[in-house]
Amino acid sequence: EAVVNKIAAGEVIQRPANALKELIENSLDAKSTNIQIVVKNGGLKLLQITDNGTGIRKEDFSIVCERFTTSKLREFEDLNTISTYGFRGEALASISHVAHLTIVSKTADEKCAFRAKYEDSKLIDTLKPTAGTQGTQITIEDLFYNMNIRKRALRSPAEEYQKITEVVEKYAIHNANVGFGLRKQGENNDVKTPCNSTKLDNIRLIYGHIIARELIEFSLENDPYKFKVQGYITNPNYSTKKFIFLLFINHRLVECQALKKCIDQVYTTYLPKNSHPFVYLSLELDPKNVDVNVHPTKHEVHFFNEEQIIELIMAAVETKLLGSNN
Ligand code: ADP
Ligand code: MG
Repeated sequence: EAVVNKIAAGEVIQRPANALKELIENSLDAKSTNIQIVVKNGGLKLLQITDNGTGIRKEDFSIVCERFTTSKLREFEDLNTISTYGFRGEALASISHVAHLTIVSKTADEKCAFRAKYEDSKLIDTLKPTAGTQGTQITIEDLFYNMNIRKRALRSPAEEYQKITEVVEKYAIHNANVGFGLRKQGENNDVKTPCNSTKLDNIRLIYGHIIARELIEFSLENDPYKFKVQGYITNPNYSTKKFIFLLFINHRLVECQALKKCIDQVYTTYLPKNSHPFVYLSLELDPKNVDVNVHPTKHEVHFFNEEQIIELIMAAVETKLLGSNN
């Protein structure tokens, strides 16, 4: 049974950046306004996230790492209507099967924080009272220590750190009201955004003022298909070598190859060969229309009326580009 759990967990948590994404979403779910991340050896030695969110109640410590227990399901009757990031209670459980997991957390109601260690979904040892301010600190050490094959399949620590950086940067842009920090242990911050910033300011901070200067605001609302898009896209006079595409669907960072390709396609009419735009889109769909059969931690997402919705977004981008070109 232990082996089966480990394999299942390894499927949910594929690499450090993947684990971090889940942790960031948990911190956002907990209404944090400040999220600080410390990494050692590309996240394999250490991946630590500290937030100032609501915290974990003392009585919940024993269950947060049990599979399929989630504090977020209580509020919902139907899986289809769940709109928070987490909806399956699998992330912490999975992490506890493939790493050493420590949680320190304090709610507003408790006088002190509590510290707990987990292994294979279970709390090991008793809760330890400890000093701490409101919020949660999750520490993951020795990720994949018990999965040598997975560990060997990973890229270099530098590349894993790069993936981590991208995840943090993208969430920082999308959640400009939240301050984000990322650094290697013992070093200065590589990412640092203030809380109560704006998306545009964070784009400027992260991707540079040149890109920020070339951006046009994009928005689209569609009633028949019940969706809404907001974002920033570069004007047709600007291009980069690499296609920079940030896509959030219902506030989750996801991949949608079909949409990505189509957007790039629209720009080919305007841009020189082998050059691409910067595109950040936040797409909000009726949660009922996002395919819940796709595993929540799989980044590639599908949704109902995908083709029609992509067509509509493409047409709107095209119109926007035409309008800004004269
Ligand atoms: P899910 O997010 O799907 O509920 P997770 O395994 O990601 O499942 O988290 C399990 C539970 O742990 C959450 O439902 C939440 O109650 C608690 N939790 C995890 N991270 C945090 C955090 N940063 N702040 C407060 N509670 C948290
Ligand atoms: Mg979660």
